[in-house]
Order: sequence, then structure tokens, then C-alpha cells
Amino acid sequence: MTHPQIVTEQSPAEKSRLWLRYLQQQGYRITGSRRAVVDALAQAERSLTAADLYEIGRAKHKGLGLVSVYRTLEKLEELGLVQRVHGPGGCHAYISAQDGHNHMLVCENCGRVEMFEGDDLKDFTRNLEKQSGFRIHEHWLQFFGVCTECQA
Ligand SMILES: [Zn+2]
Ligand SMILES: [Zn+2]
Repeated sequence: MTHPQIVTEQSPAEKSRLWLRYLQQQGYRITGSRRAVVDALAQAERSLTAADLYEIGRAKHKGLGLVSVYRTLEKLEELGLVQRVHGPGGCHAYISAQDGHNHMLVCENCGRVEMFEGDDLKDFTRNLEKQSGFRIHEHWLQFFGVCTECQA
């Protein structure tokens, strides 16, 4: 049995650098707009919507437009660098993804997101496959609650 473990991340600066390099390797030009969006996401401890990113990013790069925000998010999601976070209005918020298979803890109060590794879903998945006839390839797990800081 695997026990859940909180995942510790790289520093935000390191993460921005890696992402920008990765985008470049994939043939994307690094513009001021892209950099602003990447920086905002890399620093975020909570999930951010496109509107959040637009606001944060514009403080750094005045020329940032909402369309650039959406396009950058699309690329980052395609490359597996960001993950969507489920919210009351749908999955419109994003958080930087971690390497490997992870799950999320989301604070309903402050929006903080923590990742953890490890689950015990093998038997559950197998039973579900038996019952439904599905062949299951993947799962996505997000828990919602109140973080330690918000409980204080
Ligand atoms: Zn909280
Ligand atoms: Zn899992």
C-alpha cells in the first residue's frame, strides 16, 4: 500500500526558467506576454483563472492581452505543464503541474493547492472496470477542504 506524500516543488524562478526553455524547445517564441503568464503561474500557490492571470500578468507586462493569456494557457496545458483545477463554475482555473502522477488538495477558502503522490485505487479501479466494462487508463483526483492556515 502506498501512503500519500506531499510533493515539494522547485523554486518559482527555477520553474519559470524550465518552462520557458521547454516552450522554446517546442518552437514557441518567448514574448513578454508569455513570460508574464509563465511567471505568474510558476509563482502561484493557488489556482488561477485566465482573468486572474491577466490581472497579475499586466502588472509586469502592460501589453498583455487576454487572448495571449488563453493561448499561453493552451500551450502550457498541451505540454502538460499546467493542470486544470475544478471549481464551482467548471474547470477554468489552472495550477502548475508536477512531474509524475499526482493528486490535488484544494482549499475552498483561500484557493491554495497542494499536490500529493500515492493512492490506493488499484482494487477500486479493477472493480469499477469489472462493473462498467470500461478499460480505465487514467484517473484524476482532487480533494476539497480547508487548509491548515485557514483553520487557524
Ligand atoms: Zn486556505
Ligand atoms: Zn492516482
